[in-house]
Amino acid sequence: MTFGIDDLPVRDELRGKSPYGAPQLDVPVRLNTNENPYPLPDALVERIAERVREAARDLNRYPDRDAVELRTKLAEYLTNTSGHPLDASNVWAANGSNEVIQQLLQTFGGPGRTAIGFEPSYSMHGLIARGTGTGWISGPRHEDFTIDLPAAQRAIAEHRPDVVFVTTPNNPTGNAVPAGTVLALYEAAQAARPSMVVVDEAYIEFSHGASLLPLLDGRPNLVVSRTMSKAFGAAGLRLGYLAAHPAVVDAVQLVRLPYHLSAVTQATALAALEYTDTLLKYVEQLKTERDRLVAELRAIGYEVTESDANFVQFGRFEDSHATWRKILDRGVLVRDNGVPGWLRVTAGTPQENDAFLDAVREVKKEQN
Ligand code: PMP
Repeated sequence: MTFGIDDLPVRDELRGKSPYGAPQLDVPVRLNTNENPYPLPDALVERIAERVREAARDLNRYPDRDAVELRTKLAEYLTNTSGHPLDASNVWAANGSNEVIQQLLQTFGGPGRTAIGFEPSYSMHGLIARGTGTGWISGPRHEDFTIDLPAAQRAIAEHRPDVVFVTTPNNPTGNAVPAGTVLALYEAAQAARPSMVVVDEAYIEFSHGASLLPLLDGRPNLVVSRTMSKAFGAAGLRLGYLAAHPAVVDAVQLVRLPYHLSAVTQATALAALEYTDTLLKYVEQLKTERDRLVAELRAIGYEVTESDANFVQFGRFEDSHATWRKILDRGVLVRDNGVPGWLRVTAGTPQENDAFLDAVREVKKEQN
């Protein structure tokens, strides 16, 4: 027997658990982690090099702890794209939206407190809850993966969670949550405790519908979280952010590590934001490809969940893991999120999507 995690005096709630682990396999077509398939354009790569070179000279100093220039530019981006006026006091940034979520749970969750999500949804909400000692409650969804509002309202009234997560568009299912549902959940959460409602909009730029940022008006317990990992094609940058009432931005600073956002990260993110218009053109291409995947998968005979994201959930399979393996054997990596009967594919370049469609056509023929 080798010495392992459980032989160490780790916290009880971590015993027997596994870390987040989407496989990082070296296969020709990787459509499994909802990344943007387009490399950054050359002009932006040059601009990043320039800004990082400038920042490099000052690396003997700690970075701007409050990331004010970056938060100002992120607020401008949100204002311009949503029409809802925000400034740096409404915005906070961290190393990926995962860190934003962690800071929110450190601030509003923690030992003796609970958070709820409506599953299947983004598994890291529950995992980060566990990591911060926050109790996790798995709330219900309908069979078609829409949120079962009356059941969700009952769960909130019964458990009185301190944090409520709503992911829209939802991952891994792809469907967006109507504003009316989010409002009703917010009301239920305020009546029950009051608690914080975190709307995870990681994929909102790919949606047919609008961002829920305007709902922030008059709702200080609402938080919208965003990321540059998807629409900005910058998953490797690790830059996530939130928009909320300035009091929320002040509150998360109680738990953030000092100088958490490196000067290199801030410089790189600022360069990427200068290229917002160019980068958002790729979003339009990806939306077209997403819609093509939905249509072609249906034409092949698969069931597909309506998608507002840069990925598509398709099924149904008696054994989704065996099907995942068959697709992988054809050189295409998709994602088995553990939703029984379903798999998820990220919209890639037209060529990657063609390779995926060829693979699933073959698999379908085999299974008929
Ligand atoms: N929220 C959702 C719904 C996601 O799917 C992801 C990434 N898969 C994230 C947040 C985290 O993204 P990041 O930490 O790269 O910003």
